Amino acid sequence: MSKITMLARKAVQVLTPYLSARRIGGQGHVWLNANEAPDSSVYQLDSSALNRYPEFQPPQIISAYANYAKLDTTQVLTTRGADESIEILIRTFCEPGIDSILICPPTYGMYAISAETCGVDVAQVALQDNFDVDYDAVEAAVLASNGHNKIVFLCAPNNPTGNILDKQKLAKLLTATEGKALIVADEAYIEFCPELTQTDLINDHENLVITRTLSKAFALASIRCGFTLAQASVIEMMGKVIAPYPVPGPVAQIAEQALSADGLEVMRDRVAVLNNNRQVLANELSKLDCVVEVFPTTGNFVLVRFKDSAKVFQAFADDGIVMRDFANKPRLENCVRITIGNSDEMSKTLSTLNSL
Ligand SMILES: *Cc1c(COP(=O)(O)O)cnc(C)c1O
Repeated sequence: MSKITMLARKAVQVLTPYLSARRIGGQGHVWLNANEAPDSSVYQLDSSALNRYPEFQPPQIISAYANYAKLDTTQVLTTRGADESIEILIRTFCEPGIDSILICPPTYGMYAISAETCGVDVAQVALQDNFDVDYDAVEAAVLASNGHNKIVFLCAPNNPTGNILDKQKLAKLLTATEGKALIVADEAYIEFCPELTQTDLINDHENLVITRTLSKAFALASIRCGFTLAQASVIEMMGKVIAPYPVPGPVAQIAEQALSADGLEVMRDRVAVLNNNRQVLANELSKLDCVVEVFPTTGNFVLVRFKDSAKVFQAFADDGIVMRDFANKPRLENCVRITIGNSDEMSKTLSTLNSL
């Protein structure tokens, strides 16, 4: 071990960093590996005051998002992407070396990595056979942890399986764990199924936290802008831990335009197109011989189990189509996640599969 490695914190020495789609890279001209939107809009930037620090929480975007989410401005925090919200939650509520978070795999990888970088343990309650949350087992694990399981991360639509949450069961879990743990519902993809949001539970449950992002349906992954929705008491605690200027001025300007009435309309039109493309793709996939299973389709992606995913993955690569491989993940053998792109990208995807 090098001297510098030995200087690093133990938790960092043993850490495997999150392999984002960008870090994995790939070669091709059709990018369907990061659940990004296929189009980008044009925004106006005013660069006249870049010498000044930005607002701690730019009021224009806080009020625009509160309005969009039908919540009070005191119930909204904006962060450097939803990923920063995950990290701030852990740093605000988990005592390093003592507390833990609870995750339900297979799910989004950043919860565990964020916890590990903070020296916080990761407990697991596996998703059920159909990849729905096992609410009773989660409740039992939180209650059995002597107050040490401080945060439960649920993801809905779940990345990568597409499963959603059951509002009644979630409400029961929130009540059972009140005062013991926060229940986080990661709604990174909720714009693709807005009727399934859990924001209406916030006013009744102080331990519910919802994370959101502009990276997916809003087509703004590049600007790194996310939101946390919860009762004001939670937002205030997180406000103690967050960086002093978390949202760069130019980011706030773009976010404000994206959250305007026009911006919301553009987003909803995009969602309608992508949801339609998703339906077409899912229908076609289910007819193919090489496909074993198409998982629930609720976000801008679809997880597919193939008979031989290595062969499929190679065929995509040969045709310059970059997908996200999940075949090495437990319980996701032979699975590939396909981001829903524009109709041209979807035809190319299907033509590669048809050529097999
Ligand atoms: C993409 C994604 C995020 C991260 O969003 P950013 O705002 O880009 O940091 C969080 N959670 C899930 C489930 C995601 O898929």
